[in-house]
Amino acid sequence: MIPLLDLTRTDLRDLMQQWGEPTYRGNQIYDWLHKNLVTDPAQMTNLSKKLRARLAAETSVNPLELITQVDSEDRLTRKALFRLPDGATIEVVLMLYNYRRTVCISTQVGCGMGCPFCATGQGGLVRNLTAGEIIAQVHWFERWLREEDGRENSLKVERPSRLSNIVVMGMGEPLANYDALLQALRAIADPDTFSLSARAITVSTVGLIPMIDKLVEEKLPVRLAVSLHAATNRLRNRLVPINKRYPLEALMAACRRYQQKTNRRISFEYALMRGVNDAPQHAEQVADLLADLRCHVNLIPLNPTAGSRYQPSNEQTAQRFQEILQEAGITTTMRLRRGVEINAGCGQLRQASQQSDPK
Ligand code: SAH
Ligand code: SF4
Repeated sequence: MIPLLDLTRTDLRDLMQQWGEPTYRGNQIYDWLHKNLVTDPAQMTNLSKKLRARLAAETSVNPLELITQVDSEDRLTRKALFRLPDGATIEVVLMLYNYRRTVCISTQVGCGMGCPFCATGQGGLVRNLTAGEIIAQVHWFERWLREEDGRENSLKVERPSRLSNIVVMGMGEPLANYDALLQALRAIADPDTFSLSARAITVSTVGLIPMIDKLVEEKLPVRLAVSLHAATNRLRNRLVPINKRYPLEALMAACRRYQQKTNRRISFEYALMRGVNDAPQHAEQVADLLADLRCHVNLIPLNPTAGSRYQPSNEQTAQRFQEILQEAGITTTMRLRRGVEINAGCGQLRQASQQSDPK
């Protein structure tokens, strides 16, 4: 079976040529897939019956099989767990917030970066997702939002509507799966098909410097978020082990290069961990480190995960941390602990489902 979402427009035109069809059929199929989001070749009504039958026999469209989905009590977050064709599982989250409809997507099964507080990191890297598997996550929730409001509408959202934002903050390190990520994001930002603005897409990275530099050169103005979590090498080596290869000074230099070239503000993610990185002195170190960047800091009280001893900061400590940054002129948001009760922390639903799996 040829996974159609893995093919670019050019690939699809080439495939049609191989099949002895006119190449514009490739464009038509591409539009059905990426504009109309159809998952069944039978719906591609401008193709011949014969071509539709061949597509049905030899290709596949949607690689995602829904295993389970959970809504938060406030009906603003939905988390879905999917099975991929090889049996691997991934998580995707839809978040409704301030008129935004944001989907948080995964780029790898597992992750090889080994951050000790992260559920995804605990099992290591299983494999990269393909471009089609990344695109399909976005299409899944977009399809649901586009549907007429009907029976199944347990979330607080008007339908039909569209996704407004994408954050690449699910399972995996996106810049460690660079080519598939870029192919997927180009398809999503393609003004002729899915047409979500690249500026509405945020890629979160642990700080793979060569890939940050590469991203700067792409004509794809996505936003960058860097997972900081500590402002000294000593502490960051522990919390984000890749820091040993790409230490803070070099990472900050890459962030400055990114900013000079793109003129875009950078976000930094900082998970507040009780007694580890949440003291006033840590906040001062962050303020110093970021002093010469135009940036925004997202503070996230840690989601505790099974198998890790790290705990969230208490509210007072977190607030004090935020005040210090704000007094230093750095804008911050305290990410609400939304979705905690549905295990919406990175990799957590999957972990829970595997733990309850008797095998
Ligand atoms: N691998 C990328 C993107 C996926 S993780 C990265 O690390 O940036 C998305 C964000 O969730 C990162 O900032 C990550 O550090 C954070 N995160 C992971 N586990 C978490 C947890 N248990 N609680 C809070 N934030 C967590
Ligand atoms: Fe990987 Fe990001 Fe988790 Fe670190 S925090 S292990 S980079 S997914």
